[in-house]
Amino acid sequence: MAVAEWKKELTDNFSETVAWRRHLHQYPEPSFEEIETSLFIKEKLEAFGVDEIRTNVGNGYGIVGKIIGKHPGPTVALRADFDALRVTEEVDSPFKSKHAGIMHACGHDGHTAALLSVAKVMAKHKDDLHGTIVFLHQHAEEVIPGGAKSMVEDGAINDVDVVFGIHLDASQPVNHVFYTYDFGSANSDSFTMRIQGKGGHGADPHNTHDALTIGSQIVTALQHIVSRLTDPVKPAVLSFAGFQAGGEANNIIADSAEIKGTVRTLHGDVQQLIETKLQTMSQSIAQAFDASVEVDYMKGYPSIQNSSKEVDRVKETLLNTFSKDEVSHLDGSMGGEDFAYFLQKKPGAFLRVGAKAKDVAVAYPHHHPKFDIDEQSLLRSGEVFLAIIETYLTK
Ligand SMILES: [Zn+2]
Ligand SMILES: [Zn+2]
Repeated sequence: MAVAEWKKELTDNFSETVAWRRHLHQYPEPSFEEIETSLFIKEKLEAFGVDEIRTNVGNGYGIVGKIIGKHPGPTVALRADFDALRVTEEVDSPFKSKHAGIMHACGHDGHTAALLSVAKVMAKHKDDLHGTIVFLHQHAEEVIPGGAKSMVEDGAINDVDVVFGIHLDASQPVNHVFYTYDFGSANSDSFTMRIQGKGGHGADPHNTHDALTIGSQIVTALQHIVSRLTDPVKPAVLSFAGFQAGGEANNIIADSAEIKGTVRTLHGDVQQLIETKLQTMSQSIAQAFDASVEVDYMKGYPSIQNSSKEVDRVKETLLNTFSKDEVSHLDGSMGGEDFAYFLQKKPGAFLRVGAKAKDVAVAYPHHHPKFDIDEQSLLRSGEVFLAIIETYLTK
């Protein structure tokens, strides 16, 4: 059986896959600056004998590779992102980041190595394929506007029938695979408010418009949006993440204040309501106290909408491939992920692969300086990609 051979080759190549991941881990590059990373990927795809390779796809260093099967059939796209974060690594390992202040702290090095390992195997098995595999090596997932949207606009998935992505998940046990129905991530927006009051002496509050207390009123009042104004059966999160005002001395009333936060929603009407209320409530409060406020509301990535039909199909293969207790459903999260743009255009799904080592009780979260993965998850990620190929491209 062809698929058994693919899996054997993937396993045989595992130490090489790990070496690729460690190389990428040592030389991480932040979003939109992944010059060496994209070159590394391109050279590998060329060496494997991938049929078509497009570089500089979208608004950065995106790469699209294609393996065209011997037999006609559908086209399946597989995505791995490859950017790192501006985080200073605190994990001591022989392959610790050599780029100061930059780290693969989200596992994108693992996604990339796993997808490359699949390209290497499948380039040798075009005869087995009824259809085409498109490899989406995506730049800049971590920083808005992201790379996915522009890759879609640049035609990366024009000829594609279904699209799949995976993300390692360090909070879940290694070798476990998770599928999600419906929403996988949230509309992820952010906002900044600048309050302009009138500073002055702390002993003369009546001659000031205290930006700090006005800002406090705004923060408190806006807590009512999610608890009182949005439909309780439609998820929403409004979190404040920063408040800066005054601080020059104990007796100076703040002239201005800056407040930052994030808004997460699944439904367009809720998103719109929160944006509107952020504006009107903060303006009314500022006005009431003779100050003014400027609100910048920035729309981020839309929410991932998985296609039930494709989840059904892949789930069946996963359950036939792995032991039953290793494959399960995982609820979507209110996090953001620009894979959503691929799913806005084509059906497909976003899967998660556990990456927490067996001897670790609670893993450090993604984006943490001590974030780490169990590299066994790279092999499992490759096997998941092969299961997707098996589902769509074998007869
Ligand atoms: Zn991340
Ligand atoms: Zn990520």
